Amino acid sequence: MLILMKSGSTIEECSNVEALVRRQGFEPLPVPGENRIAICVTGNTGPVDPGPFSDLPGVLDCIAVTKPYKLVSREVHPEDTVVRVGNVAIGGRHEPALIAGPCSVETEARTLAIAQAAQRAGARMFRAGAFKPRSSPYAFQGLGNEALVTLARVREETGLPIVSEVLDAEAVSRMEEVVDLLQVGTRNMQNFALLRRLAKSTRPVLLKRGLSASFEEWMMAAEYLLMGGNPNVILCERGVRTFVRHSRNTLDLNVVPLVRERSHLPVIVDPSHGCGARDRVRAMARAALAAGAHGLLIEAHTDPASSYTDAAQTIDIRTLSGVTEDAQILGRLERLEPVESATVR
Ligand code: PEP
Ligand code: MN
Repeated sequence: MLILMKSGSTIEECSNVEALVRRQGFEPLPVPGENRIAICVTGNTGPVDPGPFSDLPGVLDCIAVTKPYKLVSREVHPEDTVVRVGNVAIGGRHEPALIAGPCSVETEARTLAIAQAAQRAGARMFRAGAFKPRSSPYAFQGLGNEALVTLARVREETGLPIVSEVLDAEAVSRMEEVVDLLQVGTRNMQNFALLRRLAKSTRPVLLKRGLSASFEEWMMAAEYLLMGGNPNVILCERGVRTFVRHSRNTLDLNVVPLVRERSHLPVIVDPSHGCGARDRVRAMARAALAAGAHGLLIEAHTDPASSYTDAAQTIDIRTLSGVTEDAQILGRLERLEPVESATVR
């Protein structure tokens, strides 16, 4: 249940409501909004009786939340959430954020050169994996701690915020030092120990959709982060596994307007893993922005064919510049009031 407070309600009135929630054996979670405060009742297994709450001073309304996720839903938080990563704002009506870099961190010289080239091509954040979740245990697993040193250098030299994947809960503290946006990969979307740990992080989290996760499972995974105390979550669609053989995954772009309808969290798209083929990445990046994505995550390299991992889907820097141009044009759609806006928002 969600308890909506009247605008202008006092701190004391809110504390009163929270105390009653606790006396009933549940946990209150305040959700501040632009115009009013809401208090979310969590920890209940069934419906909560609104009776005792509706008469308390300062309470405007009590709304039953029907979904198995609450804090990520628009019912609880009607305004778009904007997540800030360094100097970049993602979400709402901010211009689409372009996150780019090689799949894996490579040698320091090469990684730095890619980062500088990507920055010139319009990337606002640099992404590269230090620890790689590989399907085969014999495949290259990433350069590990050495790669973190390289990422720190890239941040220092370029000023770009760093995005990198964290594979397990134990690695979070170490990675928080150099990584501005912690990526949870598709294979870890339901690693609840990792999500609980990231919920305590002060760094924002990029939560990729599981490769066969339903919309609800994805939202519930994000709910772990918000419920545990981390409101800075960006969702990322990266393709799901289907019967098709012509692409690595099937990029599920209709999920983008669905996320925007049901959740206030920003949603970005990764067309690289969604296609698995570099020739289709730019087209699908355009499609993602047209569908309402708040940003893009793209694998790019100065010499794509020699990428340590995911070479086939990695675009060159010229193509990345093209994506930036597309984003400038398509980003304007966000500021128009299209006919569809009633359903998109
Ligand atoms: C990646 O971003 O390089 C990656 C491994 O992504 P995903 O988890 O989507 O497969
Ligand atoms: Mn990759």
